[in-house]
Amino acid sequence: MAETAEVVMIGGGIVGASVAYHLAEGGCTDVLVLEREAHLGRGSTGKSMGGVRAQFSTEINIRLSLYALDFFARFEQATGCPPGYRPQGYLFVATREKHMEYLRANFQLQRACGVKTVELLSPAEVLHRMPHLRSDDVLGGSFGSADGFVDPHSVMGGFMQRATEKGVHLWKGAEVTGILKDANGIAGVETRRGTVSTRKVVNAAGPWAAQVAALAGVDLPVQPLRRMLVPTEPFPLIAREAPMTIDMATGFHFRPEGLGVLLAWNDPEETPGFKTQFDPAFIEKILTRAVDRVPCFESLEVNPKRAWAGLYEMTPDHYPILGPVPEVPGFYLANGFSGHGVMHSPATGKVMSDLILRGHTDLIDATALNLARFAEGRMIHESAVL
Ligand SMILES: Cc1cc2nc3c(=O)[nH]c(=O)nc-3n(C[C@H](O)[C@H](O)[C@H](O)COP(=O)(O)OP(=O)(O)OC[C@H]3O[C@@H](n4cnc5c(N)ncnc54)[C@H](O)[C@@H]3O)c2cc1C
Repeated sequence: MAETAEVVMIGGGIVGASVAYHLAEGGCTDVLVLEREAHLGRGSTGKSMGGVRAQFSTEINIRLSLYALDFFARFEQATGCPPGYRPQGYLFVATREKHMEYLRANFQLQRACGVKTVELLSPAEVLHRMPHLRSDDVLGGSFGSADGFVDPHSVMGGFMQRATEKGVHLWKGAEVTGILKDANGIAGVETRRGTVSTRKVVNAAGPWAAQVAALAGVDLPVQPLRRMLVPTEPFPLIAREAPMTIDMATGFHFRPEGLGVLLAWNDPEETPGFKTQFDPAFIEKILTRAVDRVPCFESLEVNPKRAWAGLYEMTPDHYPILGPVPEVPGFYLANGFSGHGVMHSPATGKVMSDLILRGHTDLIDATALNLARFAEGRMIHESAVL
């Protein structure tokens, strides 16, 4: 075989880049990243809203996020590239008592996990943070001041740049078409640019993860699910420093973007599939929710041509699948982020490099996120709103 590498990464999105970076930081630089496209960021990473938050309702998500928020704050120091981290906060707005109860329970858990930047808000405090809300039914909310947004493309680029500076190799236009196995497990990969001999392969193929896993004979429950985002024309009423604001009743959320606003809503009627076309009918659906919560959005102007669609990589319990596949020695999974792959990319890189290089990690209980949890009935339950 012409090429060899200690570790081969399939996929050069934000997750593959972070795993490559963390492997290199851990002393393993004989890593080859294989990306099918001619440019990085063509998958989910380039379509993301870039939201990052520690306000979750389970310890495992909070721990993954705490690593991320700390990492994004020192990202430029670590990689030499600015990540575009804007800690402008996430403002959850509750209009139902069950949502206030959810926020109160989350607040206790977040505090117990060491999140110091979250506070519960009265209705007046919610309005202070976002004065344009329709407030007649607001019961309160929560605000996390370290939460906010990053530029996913810059984070991906920063990880990859530092990884390659340390010796990691990146092949673009190198689709993986086969995974080779022998009696010892993984033996190599076949790509459009030739065959690579390796004993360790990491599946970081985003929404295409199940197809890549199938090449190794592994059945991976990751499904693509379309998500659409709508940027608006300039809208000065919403401050540039405004937080990500979430109407918990509908799931509608928005944040400032450029001189306008970026609108998001996860349509519950969306069905799985590789659908990446933006559906113009979505604009009326999202604007209905937008105006209902923020009446001044009635005067928003939207150019449908600037709106876009991308793919979430969904798992049955909406938690990622991380770690080795014992049935195929040398095959590792970093998949299924279910809408949180940008914010959880730093921790994923650390967990994966720990598992690959040391066989264990101290960051989280990695067995909770392994593939076997589905067959063993250990799915994680979370009543998430986003
Ligand atoms: C509209 C939208 C909004 C989002 N908002 C947020 C948010 O606010 N916060 C957040 O944390 N997350 C968000 N996400 C989710 C986040 O973007 C993803 O979870 C994350 O980008 C996944 O990164 P990845 O590297 O695993 O996948 P990708 O970025 O898709 O990268 C996978 C790469 O693998 C390559 N590939 C696939 N098959 C092969 C093959 N056979 N050979 C070689 N290469 C291959 C692809 O070309 C691709 O570049 C959002 C997603 C969408 C769509």
